[in-house]
Amino acid sequence: MGIINRIEAKRNLTRQNHLSGEERARLLRSKKFDMCPKCIKRLNSLRFKQDAELIPNLYPGYTAWRDEVPKRYDLMHSWNCWYTFINLTRVRKGLLFNGSVWPDYQAFWERALESIPNWPGFRRTKLSKQELEAIERFHYELAAREWS
Ligand SMILES: [Zn+2]
Repeated sequence: MGIINRIEAKRNLTRQNHLSGEERARLLRSKKFDMCPKCIKRLNSLRFKQDAELIPNLYPGYTAWRDEVPKRYDLMHSWNCWYTFINLTRVRKGLLFNGSVWPDYQAFWERALESIPNWPGFRRTKLSKQELEAIERFHYELAAREWS
């Protein structure tokens, strides 16, 4: 990632506060898999790690493991790329806990599978009951810490 991109990503990060609630809600509701070729390449080149840890502050309530996210928040150079990724983790979480992809997001999910088949997150679409409980406990403890 070039220095310009890094500066742009940082600028976007600080701008997150200025992203209007309306705009954020629109991006979070989007059912479009809207990611640039660079980010697709980035996600596709990540390697699955059996012992990867859960990320605490990706986005409140959203679940991803360390090996599923590129370094330095590269995806944040564009809100479309970032929120597409956030939505991907949300749809996968739905799949983990409900056993199926929400019908509204079927096309999104298929598009993701086609675009980034090597994304480590696709190796985590079925977990044991204990693993699911560990995720819930993880988020519960994070929330409890934030409110204490
Ligand atoms: Zn991108």
